Amino acid sequence: RDPLLEISGLRTHFSTREGTVKAVDGASLTVPRATTVCVVGESGCGKSVTARSVLGLIDHPGKIVAGEIRWHRTDREPLDLAALSPTGPELRSIRGREIAMVFQEPMASLSPMYTVGDQLMEAIRLHKEVTKDEARSMALDLLRRVGIPRPEQRFGAYSFQLSGGMCQRIMIAIALACDPALLIADEPTTALDVTTQARIIDLLRDIQAETGMSMLFITHDLGVVAEIADEVVVMYLGTVVERGGVDEIFHDAKHPYTKALLGSIPRMGAGTRQRLTTIRGNVPHPSDRPSGCPFHPRCGDAVPGLCDVEEPPEVVFGPARSARCVLHAMERSVR
Ligand code: SF4
Ligand code: MG
Repeated sequence: RDPLLEISGLRTHFSTREGTVKAVDGASLTVPRATTVCVVGESGCGKSVTARSVLGLIDHPGKIVAGEIRWHRTDREPLDLAALSPTGPELRSIRGREIAMVFQEPMASLSPMYTVGDQLMEAIRLHKEVTKDEARSMALDLLRRVGIPRPEQRFGAYSFQLSGGMCQRIMIAIALACDPALLIADEPTTALDVTTQARIIDLLRDIQAETGMSMLFITHDLGVVAEIADEVVVMYLGTVVERGGVDEIFHDAKHPYTKALLGSIPRMGAGTRQRLTTIRGNVPHPSDRPSGCPFHPRCGDAVPGLCDVEEPPEVVFGPARSARCVLHAMERSVR
């Protein structure tokens, strides 16, 4: 495991007049090279804030208050992105050059004022010293690579003339313009129909196989995870509750929250595995974080007097395998 990005003990808090919202509160995860890591969890679990923290894209009044985000650049000392000014030149030069990001709403990310070709050329010329003609032919190449038919014709189109799937392909082309070592994708297919979703996922997989870039892929859709992930990070209320390889997560989930997300909790004594489609209750607001294990009010396995009092330790099973649940900690100490 050759790490490209290592997030450790990240805390990103928002201080509001009502109090501090701990959107990310001690999250750790690693993205190895040429690997896709999916971050999963319900809305409000801190997935997006974690991703945005990497690039210093936290909206006011949010702030990284603790932790490290080590960026392992080739042939250079690792750099702690968390220590850089979000508006400073260092982070700005990494953003879009070494690390690129695509978001959920491709339409909103493209300007309606310029043609998609112009926006793509601008992205290329921002990172590479090339003439206009060279940028144009590179842009056409990129459009072809992301599977846009008749790119010469689409070049002069405006985003509002194109479908959501087309716009997302163009956003991906813009992200690829700088050959990023890491692509952060925050729910990039959520706004798209199922067929388009599948095509975009295929496209991202192909590009990764071709370029060897890593991906940090945020989603709440386990179908997408099964398609694209090498490794999975499960987040709940700002912390990582389980990490593992994609097969380990799907076939040997250890944390009750992961099991609940997967929708099949084995019920003791029932004799059968009951399929649950939703997890009971809602994700509490981060400013209302329960004591002890943050999942205890919703957990069917919670041990009264323990889970509501003590924060469970992270039990590490292997380099990319861990779960933060007291049941595994007890199992460990019994052994
Ligand atoms: Fe459930 Fe307790 Fe494990 Fe939390 S620590 S997930 S409440 S069993
Ligand atoms: Mg989100």
